[in-house]
Amino acid sequence: MAEYNENNYLYLGAQEHINLPSHKLQTIDCLSHPTYNLILFCRECNGLICSKCLTNSHQCHSMCNIDLIHHEKLEILSNQREIINNKYFPFVLSEKSKFEDMLSLHTVSYKVEREKIIEKGRKLKDEISKLTNILLSEKEKEYLKIKENIEKNITKIEQESNDLKSSAILIEEFIKSNNIQDVCHISDAVQNYVEGFVIERRPLSFQTLTFIKESDNAYELQKNLEN
Ligand SMILES: [Zn+2]
Ligand SMILES: [Zn+2]
Repeated sequence: MAEYNENNYLYLGAQEHINLPSHKLQTIDCLSHPTYNLILFCRECNGLICSKCLTNSHQCHSMCNIDLIHHEKLEILSNQREIINNKYFPFVLSEKSKFEDMLSLHTVSYKVEREKIIEKGRKLKDEISKLTNILLSEKEKEYLKIKENIEKNITKIEQESNDLKSSAILIEEFIKSNNIQDVCHISDAVQNYVEGFVIERRPLSFQTLTFIKESDNAYELQKNLEN
């Protein structure tokens, strides 16, 4: 079987610029003719053939030496390697880098916005708490004012009631008296009192602040005008 090395190269004119391979090709048996080595490349069949294959067919086909096709394929591989290394690989690295940068941007932005939302929530809770306290305080002030006013009226009515009781007791006491002086005196006094007594019905309207919900974000107290 023939061994292929640098001495076997058959260069055809323009192929001389191709560099010699740094390694020796191993000999490979023909699949169709196992006792023969593959020694030629048939360009039309795009395959390696042995001398037996050549005698059976391929005679009119365009062929070249196995070392020449080796160099041609090496040159193609070298070109593809250059494209992969200098063009495609830098491209995908650059694309990956862009996506990583974009992810970093989103991550930073997410954290910043998240903090803003949490801070806003804190402020809203504070505002709600303040507003609640304002409403409670306003309602309490109004209630205490009304309570004070009503209690004053109750005290006044109680005083009037006590005065009436005293008058009634005086009448009961002096109606049985045998002292005409006292009877006249008390009679005049009671008469003055009774005539001076003012029957005055004070209207009682139930006007108070009530809680309203006018919209989703405006809670306030309004005057309830129901009587
Ligand atoms: Zn063969
Ligand atoms: Zn062929």
